[in-house]
Amino acid sequence: KQRGKGNRVRFHDGMEEPVLAHARIGGDLRRALEAGEFRLHYQPIVALGEGQVIGVEALVRWDHPTRGLLAPAEFIPAAEATGLIVPLGRFVLREACRQAAAWLEEYGPDALQKVAPNVSVRQLHDPDFVEDVREALAETGLPADRLVLELTESAVLRGEQVSRTLHELHAMGVRLALDDFGTGESSLSLLRSFPASIIKLDKSFVDGIELDEPGTPAAEARQAVAHAVAQLAGALGLDTVAEGIESQEQADRLRSLGYTLGQGYHMARPMPAELMGEMLSRRAERVGAGA
Ligand code: C2E
Ligand code: MG
Ligand code: MG
Ligand code: MG
Repeated sequence: KQRGKGNRVRFHDGMEEPVLAHARIGGDLRRALEAGEFRLHYQPIVALGEGQVIGVEALVRWDHPTRGLLAPAEFIPAAEATGLIVPLGRFVLREACRQAAAWLEEYGPDALQKVAPNVSVRQLHDPDFVEDVREALAETGLPADRLVLELTESAVLRGEQVSRTLHELHAMGVRLALDDFGTGESSLSLLRSFPASIIKLDKSFVDGIELDEPGTPAAEARQAVAHAVAQLAGALGLDTVAEGIESQEQADRLRSLGYTLGQGYHMARPMPAELMGEMLSRRAERVGAGA
């Protein structure tokens, strides 16, 4: 079997089965990368009151020749395990920058403020990562301050090298978002050392947040956490985005708890670039605008 350098598969005790599955899918992923089968879908990030699209998150899909369009959950774990997340992530970064620059060119500087691809911890550990970001910006012409890199807390973020990488990106003007905030183990201590600009409140705090009936302590707890996160972000000068909003009631409640930006199926689902472009072209578009 021919395996490229970045395609080494590591076996851990007790992990035979998933690793073997990953090895199998690893070959398939490499082929797919070369065949250009990965696509980005885009989901609007919206001002909760007014409903304008202020940015888009880029989410990868695999347009598989026989299995159809696959969601990240079906291949990102294997891509991480095989190391192929590094070249895949490089494609995602480059394509997101290219597409956003094209939209800005076509629809003008107010069309969108930022594009936000997700970045895996494996990419952060890649010594070429900062250079890859610099190149993606230079070659696509996207201004650095329009790029937001979404990092999960768990991913982030230990070690001097990762810390140096994050500070270099920050110094370039690239913004960093803490994704799925509240689900990691050290949210608060992380905020001291991590040059984040944005906190994305995890969907698990948004689910059920609108419920008000007496005897729903879970909803009360979510509201308390969501509110505290908004206050903390405000005190630290960070922006917040509430993720996974599925109803107007949730949007209204989050707004009253201090959130100005949100993302979720209630406003819009992730969509192919052509549809996203149409939405951005109608600049004043309001999506799921509430009172
Ligand atoms: P994430 O970064 O937290 O992205 C949000 C996920 O929630 C997306 O799922 C999105 O489609 C989904 N979502 C948005 N609004 C709603 C809603 O109202 N309800 C529900 N039920 N779901 C909603 P998706 O696209 O399947 O991505 C899942 C995860 O895969 C992402 O979570 C991210 O961690 C990872 N991922 C996606 N694209 C990439 C990528 O290019 N690179 C890496 N490393 N990870 C990626
Ligand atoms: Mg994300
Ligand atoms: Mg998220
Ligand atoms: Mg998530």
